Amino acid sequence: MSDKTYGFETLSLHAGAAPDPTTGARALPIYQTTAYVFDDADHAAALFNLQTVGFIYSRLTNPTNAALETRLATLEGGRGCTVASSGHAAQVLALFPLMGPGAEIVAASRLYGGSLQQMKNTYPKFGWTANIVDADTPDNFKRAVTDRTKAFFIESLANPGGVISDIEAIARIAEDAGVPLLVDNTLATPWLCKPIDYGATLVVHSTTKFLSGTGTSMGGAVVDSGKFDWSRGGKFPSLAGPEPAYHGLNFYETFGDMAYTFHSHAVGLRDLGPTQAPFNAWLTMLGMETLGLRMERHCANALAVAQHLEKHPAVAWVNYAGLPSNKYNALAKKYLPKGAGSIFTFGVKGGYDVGMKVVDSVELFSHLANIGDAKSLIIHPASTTHRQLSEEQRVAAGAGPDVLRLSIGIETVADIIADLDQALAKATSQ
Ligand SMILES: *Cc1c(COP(=O)(O)O)cnc(C)c1O
Repeated sequence: MSDKTYGFETLSLHAGAAPDPTTGARALPIYQTTAYVFDDADHAAALFNLQTVGFIYSRLTNPTNAALETRLATLEGGRGCTVASSGHAAQVLALFPLMGPGAEIVAASRLYGGSLQQMKNTYPKFGWTANIVDADTPDNFKRAVTDRTKAFFIESLANPGGVISDIEAIARIAEDAGVPLLVDNTLATPWLCKPIDYGATLVVHSTTKFLSGTGTSMGGAVVDSGKFDWSRGGKFPSLAGPEPAYHGLNFYETFGDMAYTFHSHAVGLRDLGPTQAPFNAWLTMLGMETLGLRMERHCANALAVAQHLEKHPAVAWVNYAGLPSNKYNALAKKYLPKGAGSIFTFGVKGGYDVGMKVVDSVELFSHLANIGDAKSLIIHPASTTHRQLSEEQRVAAGAGPDVLRLSIGIETVADIIADLDQALAKATSQ
C-alpha cells in the first residue's frame, strides 16, 4: 500500500493495514506485547546495531503503532513517522533531535495554549529558549533568527480564533535560515491541508482530536518529510554527527532520509519514553478510516452554524475563517480549500454572564475542554481554560469575556443550530 496514486479516502482505510500475513485477520491486530523473540543471537545483535529493522521492545517500536505510523506518513506525504503518548509528548519528541542547551526556537504567538505553556515555562528548564512572534507578519520570523536558532514552530490552523498561517512564506524564511519548519496540523488534519506540500519539514499532531475522532484516545505523532539536509551548516550534530547516545552512530550518513525517524525511535522514544499504548494506536487507526467523511461533515456543519450565528440578534461577532468577512479567508482559500475546519469562536452580546449562561443552557452540546470529537462541544474560555490570565491577556489570546468556542460535530446540523438557538434565548431572556 505504498502506491501514492490511491486517493485520500482509500489510503485512510488501507495504508499501513494489510491483512495479517500469519492469520489472515482482516482487521489490524492489537499487538499487546512488551517484547519480541529474536531468531538467534546474530539477529539480536543486528537489531541492536540497527543493521536489521525489526522489533525489540515496545517502548521503541510496536507493530500496531508501526501501522499507524505508516498511515500518517502516507496521508501527510512524509517519509517516516513516530507516534507518541500525546500531542504534547510528540512536540517534545519532535524538537529533541534538533535542540540542546542554549538552542532557540522561533514560534508563533497564537498557538494552542498548552504549547505556549511548554515554550514559555518548560522548555527553558531544558535550556531551550522560544522567541514568540506574531506569525501574521512572516518577516517576524526572519527578524527573530539568531545563530542559535534550530527550528520554527507554527500551527496550520490555530484555535481559538481560526488563525491561519502563511505556511509557504514562513517555510521560505526557514529555508533561508537553514532550519526546519515544524507545523502542528492537528486542527486541519491532512484531509484539509498537507503542510509538507508547502515546504514544512516536520508535521506534528495531537491524534487525540480529529484523527482518532471519537474522544477516546490520547495520542500524538511526528511526521518527517525526509527532505531536510541535516548536515547543512553543522547545526544538527545529533542527526548528522557522531551521536554519543548511540555509540557514535551518524544517523544521517547511515539512514539518509530516514535519519530523523530512526533517531526518534532509537534515541527519542528509548530515552524519553513517551510511547503510545498499542490499544490507543488501534483506536486511532479505526477512527482514521472515516477521517475524510467526518471532516467533510464537520466543515459543512461548521460553515452552516457560523452563517446562522452571524445573523443571530444575540451574537456580536463570529470568527470563522470560512466566512468571507473573516480576515483569514484568503489564506483559508489557499491552504484549506475543502473547508476551514470545525472549531471557531463567537461573541455574545452581554459579555461574561451571558457566556456563562449559554454553556449552562446547552443540551446537545457538551461543555468540556476538548476539541475534534464527533460530538459538538462548547466552552467559555474566560471562565475555564484562560481563567488564570488577566483580562488584558485573555483579550490578547482571543478569550475575552464574551467569547464562546465551538467544536462543531457531525450531528444533524438543524439539531446543532436549534440547541444553540434555545441556549442563546435562555441566556438572554432575563
Ligand atoms: C490538543 C492539542 C495539542 C496537545 O495535544 P494532547 O494530545 O492534548 O497532548 C497540541 N496542539 C494542538 C493544536 C491541540 O489542539
